[in-house]
Amino acid sequence: MLTHEVLVIGGGLAGLMAALAASEEAEVAVLSKLWPTRSHSGAAQGGFNSALGEDDSVEAHIFDTVKGGDYLGDQDAIEVLCSEGPEVIMELERMGVPWTRTEDGRVAQRSLGGAGFPRACFAADFSGHVVLHTLYEQVFRRGVKIYPEWHLLKLLVEDGRVAGVLAYDLARASLEVMRAKVVILATGGYGRVFSKTTNAHANTGDGMAIAYRAGAVLSDMEFVQFHPTTLYGTNILISEAARGEGGYLRNASGERFMKRYAPQKMELAPRDVVSRAIFKEIKEGRGVAGKYVHLDMTHLGEALINERLPQVRDLAVCYAGVDPVHSPVPIEPAQHYSMGGVRTDSWGVTSLPGLLAAGEVANVSVHGANRLGGNSLLETVVFGRRSGRKAAALARGEVAWPALSPATVKESQEDFLALFGSGGSAQAAAADDILQIRRELTALMTNQVGIFRTGDELSDAVAQIRQLQARYRELKPAFKKCPFNYALTEYLEVGYLLDLSEVIAIGALRRTESRGAHYRLDYPQRDDRHWLCHTFVKKGADGPVFSLHPVTITRHAPQERGY
Ligand SMILES: Cc1cc2nc3c(=O)[nH]c(=O)nc-3n(C[C@H](O)[C@H](O)[C@H](O)COP(=O)(O)OP(=O)(O)OC[C@H]3O[C@@H](n4cnc5c(N)ncnc54)[C@H](O)[C@@H]3O)c2cc1C
Repeated sequence: MLTHEVLVIGGGLAGLMAALAASEEAEVAVLSKLWPTRSHSGAAQGGFNSALGEDDSVEAHIFDTVKGGDYLGDQDAIEVLCSEGPEVIMELERMGVPWTRTEDGRVAQRSLGGAGFPRACFAADFSGHVVLHTLYEQVFRRGVKIYPEWHLLKLLVEDGRVAGVLAYDLARASLEVMRAKVVILATGGYGRVFSKTTNAHANTGDGMAIAYRAGAVLSDMEFVQFHPTTLYGTNILISEAARGEGGYLRNASGERFMKRYAPQKMELAPRDVVSRAIFKEIKEGRGVAGKYVHLDMTHLGEALINERLPQVRDLAVCYAGVDPVHSPVPIEPAQHYSMGGVRTDSWGVTSLPGLLAAGEVANVSVHGANRLGGNSLLETVVFGRRSGRKAAALARGEVAWPALSPATVKESQEDFLALFGSGGSAQAAAADDILQIRRELTALMTNQVGIFRTGDELSDAVAQIRQLQARYRELKPAFKKCPFNYALTEYLEVGYLLDLSEVIAIGALRRTESRGAHYRLDYPQRDDRHWLCHTFVKKGADGPVFSLHPVTITRHAPQERGY
């Protein structure tokens, strides 16, 4: 059996930052279903928010984040996020991150939506990529053991405490048991619950679903972010940086329609506001060809686009056949970010002893009902570092290894193998059905649990998800012991998507108000009297069990949110 004092699951920004911090004082390993540098963090373009500018302040960053999240974020956690920002940006710089510079040599910052100041530190539009590679080098230098292309299957819980994991090594097709004093989940988001998403194929919410199954509390799962500008058809992200650098949104008649929705902030209003505006323009017949709107960067000039937005230009040319230097780019909104996740405190501690969580898998909660651009990358490094430090302290404080009985190990292995049948012709049929279930589920979530929601559509979605879950349980694909068995991982991932879809849809149905990214056409107002609270959900014997918990408000009382 493999043993590590601290076991980090996930090799994205949150996981690598946690591993680095933990490795200062404890022995650490990282287990990741992707090679770490292929994590979705590497796709992030826009930047990391941090109040470095002379006119900017941590206080202003806190306020923008609280307001951007429609007052649902916990203000004590937001204070941590914003006040540790400047220091962590400098720490990354010392590790070797080549931030883009101003003429006089300081770290350059750009405007992203909902921010009062240019606040996002960036490296052209490859911000996530460069930081991910820098952290990977550092983790490598420290000699942290990495298990690449190993999948977390289950958290092993003994006497109510996480004592290790059951994992699957894709290349060797083997089940492995790993013991740990502390496990840190950093498995990212669940964007693939939706058919229209900017997220990588691997973002199937595995860690969130596995923690939920093991008894951890998830929170605010009904809050799903839709990004305003993704390429029409493929939903490849066109970073908010494009609007931050001055891009306009125009409808079929060339009008900058944001003046009707957010007259002050215009294109740089928060994402929930801009996504709804675009969706409405298209729905009400003002879209180009009735299908999309235009992101117009033609007035920015080739030099600026090449310097600040080279990836945006490449993506538009390669995937939409449009060069933004000369023509507007067709765009539509799509799912982008999961605000909800495994509930943690500001040190990453979850409701399940022995388990910490950081990054998009976690809900601290700093984003409340709507995340601001640039705050998620900051969250990964700030809370990744804190959870790493906390894990090392916990691991060092534990004299003995937590108990892990042979019976618990055996049961987990048997439960896993019981998912499968004997194969043969049933296997081929099963593979088809898995794909079919996934297609139906993700289309349902996009159509009925998307940007605009209604009670009727949500109840119908919940009923349909339950039918899909029943169909899924009937499937018995074969457990073929062959290397790189992606049919197996696809099957498991659809199971995670189904569990999470159920809690997202029921959470959205229960919340009879509109707040941030959650918009109910039948309850269009924010309702602080009943709903200024977090939704907690735990797995019960007959499905999810929901409860409400107060929001921590320290300095900013809720106000009306205008832009
Ligand atoms: C296209 C795009 C652009 C973005 N741009 C920005 C931006 O400019 N600014 C900003 O603030 N935010 C941005 N975001 C959001 C931000 O990038 C993410 O929220 C953040 O990078 C998530 O980091 P993470 O470490 O939590 O997860 P990820 O980077 O997604 O990493 C998850 C890790 O978990 C591992 N994993 C998953 N499941 C398993 C399993 N079962 N077993 C083992 N390992 C597993 C994966 O291998 C991976 O290494 C963007 C997101 C997207 C999709």
